[in-house]
Amino acid sequence: MIPGAFDYHRPKSLDEAVALLAQHGDEGRLLAGGHSLIPMMKLRLANPSHLIDLHGIAALAGIEQAGDAIRIGAMTTQAEIIASDLLAAKLPILRETALQIADPQVRYCGTLGGNVANGDPGNDMPAVMMALAADFVVQGPSGERTIAARNYYQGAFTTALADDEVLGAIRIPVPPEGHGWAYQKMKRKVGDYATAAAAVLLVLDGDRCRDARIALTNVADVPLFAAAAGQALVGTTLDDAAVDKAVAAAVAITDPASDPRGPAAFRKHVAGVMIRRAVASARARARGG
Ligand SMILES: Cc1cc2nc3c(=O)[nH]c(=O)nc-3n(C[C@H](O)[C@H](O)[C@H](O)COP(=O)(O)OP(=O)(O)OC[C@H]3O[C@@H](n4cnc5c(N)ncnc54)[C@H](O)[C@@H]3O)c2cc1C
Repeated sequence: MIPGAFDYHRPKSLDEAVALLAQHGDEGRLLAGGHSLIPMMKLRLANPSHLIDLHGIAALAGIEQAGDAIRIGAMTTQAEIIASDLLAAKLPILRETALQIADPQVRYCGTLGGNVANGDPGNDMPAVMMALAADFVVQGPSGERTIAARNYYQGAFTTALADDEVLGAIRIPVPPEGHGWAYQKMKRKVGDYATAAAAVLLVLDGDRCRDARIALTNVADVPLFAAAAGQALVGTTLDDAAVDKAVAAAVAITDPASDPRGPAAFRKHVAGVMIRRAVASARARARGG
């Protein structure tokens, strides 16, 4: 349980971090909260010879609204998300999700950037970012580019981020006021990753659903954006038949592994239950309940 030897770097700017990544290639690894990376290093599943700590880069901090989007610096911790009044008012699903990640000790260190950049299908924030249509703002040697959360995840621990890029911030369009939201997660115990979890966002026009987004955690190699499932709710009153259709469409794209959290068929079933609960909760919130 002791990691291999490494050199420690603490850059003061994003440019410096990018230059260190370029210099050390495969041997360099970014360190944020360390609560995914350090366990991997202790198990020798990751063995970087150069650790590039992002804590000295002021540009990676902060939560602020700019026009109709909210920018969250990659080094914002899960605890800071929970404490943010701005997020509670504009993006309440983030607080609900962060509260279901691990335990307070992990959340004081674990960052939003690390959680979404990591590419672990068990991480909770990626599906939420897909439901929110978030963009990841990344910095590399040739400047800044934006990757949609929905295009970021390519396989377990494989993402669209290049080896020499740093995720700087997450940009999230603010959903309409009065939208409904929910993140429902089934886990075996406090601190566990999801057996299955579902993020749901709803916008209603009177009784009818104008926009619906459903995304899933830990039921495939990647977080899943269930586009057809959301479409099955649009234009409906969110009646039982529409919800059944949405659940069937979402479960159809899941492909969970059988693992200590349960056999694949059980985890698919749990995904359906989480979607149903999340839709019910989001619908009640959108109706002011
Ligand atoms: C006991 C325990 C329980 C946990 N339970 C859950 C859970 O239920 N749900 C959940 O979602 N997570 C869980 N986690 C993981 C936790 O949320 C991590 O903090 C999170 O996944 C990674 O964030 P970090 O800041 O710690 O990143 P780190 O561990 O420092 O980094 C993770 C990876 O992302 C890369 N990275 C980090 N920041 C950037 C960046 N800005 N740009 C590019 N790459 C970057 C690193 O190089 C590394 O590969 C748990 C962790 C522990 C220890």
